[in-house]
Amino acid sequence: MERRVKVPLLDLQPQYLPIRAELLSALARVCDSQQFIMGPEVEALEAELAGAIGVTHAVGVSSGTDALLVALQVLDIGPGDEVIVPALSFVATASAVARVGAAPVFVDVDPVTLTVEAGAVAAACTPRTRAVIPVHLFGLCADMDPLLSLARSRGLAVIEDAAQAIGATCGDRQAGASDTVGCFSFFPTKNLGAFGEAGLLTTGDGALASRMRRVRNQGSDTKYRHTELGGNFRLDALQAAVLRVKLPHLASWIECRRANAAAYGELIRDTGRLADAVTLPVEPEGRRHTFHQYVIRLADRDRVRTELAVRGVGTEIYYPVPLHRQPCFTTGVPVDCPVAEAAARQALALPIFPGLTRDQQAYVVSSLAEVLT
Ligand SMILES: *Cc1c(COP(=O)(O)O)cnc(C)c1O
Repeated sequence: MERRVKVPLLDLQPQYLPIRAELLSALARVCDSQQFIMGPEVEALEAELAGAIGVTHAVGVSSGTDALLVALQVLDIGPGDEVIVPALSFVATASAVARVGAAPVFVDVDPVTLTVEAGAVAAACTPRTRAVIPVHLFGLCADMDPLLSLARSRGLAVIEDAAQAIGATCGDRQAGASDTVGCFSFFPTKNLGAFGEAGLLTTGDGALASRMRRVRNQGSDTKYRHTELGGNFRLDALQAAVLRVKLPHLASWIECRRANAAAYGELIRDTGRLADAVTLPVEPEGRRHTFHQYVIRLADRDRVRTELAVRGVGTEIYYPVPLHRQPCFTTGVPVDCPVAEAAARQALALPIFPGLTRDQQAYVVSSLAEVLT
């Protein structure tokens, strides 16, 4: 059977083409300077991102994964410590914890928002708990205020995994701007994507920011003097230059995603039998969703996904295996996270990228209706 892609899960061309000339000249600027590591492009990007996110310090790093790793290291989290992480996330949220020698403790997510809640975190705290990593999954912030007050009362660090949520808000604060540390990813498919690997750390704490800068650069403030162990977690100038061109467009791209999400909501609600068969993503009061992914939940997901593929509709599963079930994290101690497990069976991400047309969305929804009847 012919399988022509009619609606891809993600098409980056519509955001690239209108700014292509600007991007290429930014790349040429870096090439002409022959300065590829750190330097003025990275410094300018850090200042621009700190302003955009609303934080005092922004430290560019090599990836979102490395941002998490450096965050844990500068908070001195290591062997003997426990860090609470949601069972439904990308692997890096928990692997960073294990890589510094600490133990990731998996908690279930909220059945409505799929983000981690203060109650679940409180129940998982032990005397060894040092930090919690709320993940702003799919572009929706976890409910931060209860998490922050719990963290304050127990003396826990809060490391926000905002890899999917740049520009999202919770109350009057943006993702990554709430307390100890924020971690961002500029992987090309994220809402703000580089032309390769890149990430960012944010913090309001000057001492932590200095340590982040040191750890990203081999533990060194002064050339060839290494005050602590670090790594090569630097951001390169070509990526910074690309991100500087894209950043001014981020707000409008997020608006496109939000408008697409609203259109899906209407199309699905208007298709009687669909409204009952699928659970739509929610945007709780006071939290602004950036729809990095538009994830619906439905029974019989795998069959639906295959039949949508036959109709040329690209979808993805975030995430098919919850973290506590991953072989790299199994400890032999059973962990019960029924909501994350149900989501792993039911979640299906539909195309939501900026540039997706209403006709394409109508096709996605009519295909879904066809497949479900
Ligand atoms: C993408 C992502 C990361 C890792 O970012 P990279 O830049 O790919 O290393 C971490 N956490 C979450 C939730 C992500 O979506």
